[in-house]
Amino acid sequence: MNFPTNVVVLALLGLLAASCSSPRGPSEKDGRAQAAQWRAEHRIIDLHQHLNGTTQHLTRAVRIMDRVGVGVAVNLSGGYVTRGTNAASPFEKVKRLADALAPGRIVHYMNLDYTGWDAPDFSARAVAQVEEGHRLGAAGLKEFKRLGLNLKDGNGKLIKIDDPKLDAVWKRCGELNLPISIHVADPRAFWLPYEPGNERWKELGDHKNWWFGDSNKYPARMELLEALNRVIARHPKTTFVCLHFANNAEDLEWVDASLSKYPNMMADLAARVPEIGRHDPAKVRALFTKHQDRILFATDFMVYDKLILGSSGNEPPPTDDDAAVFFAKHWRWLETNDKNFPHMTPIQGDWTISGIGLPASVLRKVYFDNARKLLARSLPLPVMKAARVGADFNLDGNTSKRVWQSAAPVAMEYESRSAIARPDLATKARALWSEKFLYLAYECPFTTLTTFEPVQANERFGLWERDVVEAFIASDANNVKRYTEYEVSPTNERLDVKIPEKDFAWSSGFESATRVDEQRKVWTVEMRIPWSAMSDAAPKPGARWRINLYRCDYANKGFLAFNPALDGSFHTPERFGWLEFE
Ligand SMILES: [Zn+2]
Repeated sequence: MNFPTNVVVLALLGLLAASCSSPRGPSEKDGRAQAAQWRAEHRIIDLHQHLNGTTQHLTRAVRIMDRVGVGVAVNLSGGYVTRGTNAASPFEKVKRLADALAPGRIVHYMNLDYTGWDAPDFSARAVAQVEEGHRLGAAGLKEFKRLGLNLKDGNGKLIKIDDPKLDAVWKRCGELNLPISIHVADPRAFWLPYEPGNERWKELGDHKNWWFGDSNKYPARMELLEALNRVIARHPKTTFVCLHFANNAEDLEWVDASLSKYPNMMADLAARVPEIGRHDPAKVRALFTKHQDRILFATDFMVYDKLILGSSGNEPPPTDDDAAVFFAKHWRWLETNDKNFPHMTPIQGDWTISGIGLPASVLRKVYFDNARKLLARSLPLPVMKAARVGADFNLDGNTSKRVWQSAAPVAMEYESRSAIARPDLATKARALWSEKFLYLAYECPFTTLTTFEPVQANERFGLWERDVVEAFIASDANNVKRYTEYEVSPTNERLDVKIPEKDFAWSSGFESATRVDEQRKVWTVEMRIPWSAMSDAAPKPGARWRINLYRCDYANKGFLAFNPALDGSFHTPERFGWLEFE
């Protein structure tokens, strides 16, 4: 059944409501404790890393991610998708290797190959690159500061950031939902006199080619930033993550004004906490609070033959321990109000920074919710593990009884259609399995229940038009279009359907029990489904099926999924997560 249009409208209204009200849940004072737990759960997403595509470098990167609590890294140096005479492009090679070494831990952005810039069909071929990257699983497109500063056309003239030849690329990225991460210009000091008094003298001393103060050779810094803003204005349907705190960490007012002006602009923090951390922490906190849906955690952590921690020079190569300190200082800056401590990239300059002590509700957006929405299409499918039980048990709706404790919970806390976070409705689900049944349990926080009156004992068509939990299960991972669907309401009304036949008359023989705890404002469900409903036989240990779980909460306009369907309908089996039998 397709999601009725009015539900979609309600869901959209719900998003507006959700963004206006502060979520319930843990106190905002304990952002630091919450964040420690998120790290233990590997929920943090670092939107800006550069990882060399070798076994040695990728393995080292994941080892450090594990140690510091980063769950997913975005490798912005995924490379070109053009092949030349080779069988595989650089992008394909790095993605294949990373997927084999560390499945689900690294996603890759593609980079644009400017070969043939002067040819009349460059735009068309660049669009073809974007389409190929999308097909190959690129999570986005990264453009380096080379655009506007180094890349030149056949006549030796610098290619401008807002060159109309590139418009087709930016447009196509928007149509394909590929976010763009773009770096233009560089720190302000790189345009100031090249002399020992320059506050970034140490960095410039080690990298003479980072100095852009020669106006015969390079455009003015603000000219580059303004050119990018013109591009952002011309492509309102494309998301531009402007790197290094919108490429202008020196000027909070400018960043605020630009984010306010362009709804399709976001900012990452990569390699700029030392610069942002120099500002009055109260002002920075206010900016983060105002634009909390638009700022993304990112570090510019690089793993090549040596590690680079935001920036580097001729100092001895950093160790894994140095990398751990580098990440820890990010946590300290974002989570505490500590004053005047040494920043994480000493080569950038000789000053200290002061923490901005963000509350948990803002921290989670910066650490992962904003990235989950941005990258929803390309994040790895989540895994739900079903724990084996020795004996079958009776259902009474009590999900806190002992037997459930052996099953690790998964969370449903993102809107199915948009992947926007709903921590206020975070719903836990667990799975168990026996020789005869698959058991599922849900714990659903609520404010007001929306149910049918009177309750119907018979199977009721349209159950999904009131509060309900659902499970869609495909036992053949190679044929996900064939699956079965189960729904239970707080009043224990039930529905089961066989897809693709849409056979409502079919009966799976599944059972359920529910409880409504008005004191704690939680309703719970236990259900069990006989294997015969889903498959010819019970699964073998280690088998992997596909599953998605949903929850509709009409009072709060919440339509949550284990893995967001990214569609108005829940019936997108290619988006189902994994169900693994332990
Ligand atoms: Zn970078």
